[in-house]
Amino acid sequence: MQDVVIVGAGPVGLFLACELGLAGCSVLVLEREPESRSPWRADPLGMRGLSATSVEAFYRRGMLHPLLTASGVHDDPGVQPDADEPSPPRSVGHFAGMVLDPAKVDVAALPLRLPSPTPEGVMTSLEAVEAVLSERAVKLGVEIRRGVAVSAITQGDESVVVHAGEHEYAARWVVGCDGGRSAVRGLAGFEFVGTEPQFTGYVVLATIADPEKLSPGFNLTPTGMYVQMPAEGHIGMMDFDGGAFDRSQQPTREHLQAVLRRVSGTDVTLSEVHLASSFTDRAMQTTTYRLGRVLLAGDAAHIHSPLGGQGLNTGIGDAMNLGWKLAATVHGHAPDGLLDTYTRERHPIGTWVLDWTRAQTMAMRPDPHGQAVQGLIRDLIGTRDGTTYVFEKLSGSAIRYELGGERSLVGRNAPDLRLEDGTRLGDLMQDGRGVALDFSADRRLHGSATGWENRLRYAGGTAKNDLGLGAVLVRPDGVVAWAGDRAPDREAFEQAARQWFGSPEI
Ligand SMILES: Cc1cc2nc3c(=O)[nH]c(=O)nc-3n(C[C@H](O)[C@H](O)[C@H](O)COP(=O)(O)OP(=O)(O)OC[C@H]3O[C@@H](n4cnc5c(N)ncnc54)[C@H](O)[C@@H]3O)c2cc1C
Repeated sequence: MQDVVIVGAGPVGLFLACELGLAGCSVLVLEREPESRSPWRADPLGMRGLSATSVEAFYRRGMLHPLLTASGVHDDPGVQPDADEPSPPRSVGHFAGMVLDPAKVDVAALPLRLPSPTPEGVMTSLEAVEAVLSERAVKLGVEIRRGVAVSAITQGDESVVVHAGEHEYAARWVVGCDGGRSAVRGLAGFEFVGTEPQFTGYVVLATIADPEKLSPGFNLTPTGMYVQMPAEGHIGMMDFDGGAFDRSQQPTREHLQAVLRRVSGTDVTLSEVHLASSFTDRAMQTTTYRLGRVLLAGDAAHIHSPLGGQGLNTGIGDAMNLGWKLAATVHGHAPDGLLDTYTRERHPIGTWVLDWTRAQTMAMRPDPHGQAVQGLIRDLIGTRDGTTYVFEKLSGSAIRYELGGERSLVGRNAPDLRLEDGTRLGDLMQDGRGVALDFSADRRLHGSATGWENRLRYAGGTAKNDLGLGAVLVRPDGVVAWAGDRAPDREAFEQAARQWFGSPEI
């Protein structure tokens, strides 16, 4: 019997597989598609933007360089990890198609940012991400079986059996990472609730007879929105039809041309359509991410429109949050209730992402109400505060779990704290353990992490920038669990370590 069966070898399933493999769990990944290669996953159609926080997750597991290489990113001049101050962001992204000016980000309002080898974001493709993750997963002992479509699940008290055709796979835990139309979600009985669509979106790769009739980049028009991507013939469109298009059909050239003409207000001609698919802004989320021994992560747990590029980033955040908690549960040293903190922490983030995309949809509606909201948002993002707010949201740095405590760092993704000897937090996290960083003058926590060595690593030293703290306890997912002042309290540290890592003697 496997410790964990993961259904779906998309980016989220593979990221989770790496986390569990790193923690020494036996993992089997079942993937429906026989081949990993698909034009929908390769550049340009599979192009995806990773946020700073997602790129940092790769960095913290020693996968930054493989990711950058696979994504065709070389020597980013904006990345100066050894600088004293973090460099200002060079791109913020967009809100509802309105592109933000990075010069307007108020860097002084973001005191918890520190220089790091991680770029603010990386344009990559699903294919590149999956290639990096599957190679690593296999190295960590994970088995990936392709051409296996899961069709039934039977839960018992001690195990779960996953059925795929005539085959059965038993595991102690099953995680559905099988995307927006998740089979696991329905088979395990998760409740999936949310809102119905306002528009049908299309992604198209076509030969355009007269591309000069279209403008590059995002175009909000009185009748909808279209995006002309850098790759020739790569178009995205949004048609506010109330989601009326029948998505079980393949959109025809005639239909796509009619939509493009309508939303662009031009008489542009699509001479040939090579590939096309549709999506909507249907925004749904399961009410919990765990039912018994079955868990969900990524699009299986939350779907929404791709506006603002949040789906993959949220899914990687789910996998990073779940991996160490599930591994600790498998190994029997998880403190009571640890696994349930997965839903508690990640569900509100999913809810926020759904709302973020809904707000963008409203600001793009081609009617007087939508135009009014759009005007208001344009004014707001024209300000420093407005741009800084959106930057924090899109980069992932605004995410903060409610872990209690007064320090603003607790519950947030830890900045890449650096010791005087050059060691970085990111280096210390590569084996998947938590980290106790002790900057206090007398190394007050030395010896306090004894007994947790298989889960927690102690590192003492003078910090390059201690952010006014004497010690920080970082969970394996990079989230700050506890922070102490310049003379940190040993008892408080040990209590926090017990809370997240269980009893030291196990
Ligand atoms: C046009 C577009 C642009 C986007 N841009 C961005 C962006 O810039 N940034 C961003 O963060 N997000 C973006 N997204 C969203 C992002 O692509 C998804 O959120 C992400 O791919 C979800 O990953 P996943 O692993 O959860 O699911 P998926 O990528 O859907 O992977 C699920 C896997 O499960 C497999 N599977 C399905 N059913 C079964 C079954 N029954 N048995 C076994 N295997 C099964 C599938 O074959 C697939 O391999 C975009 C989406 C679209 C459509």
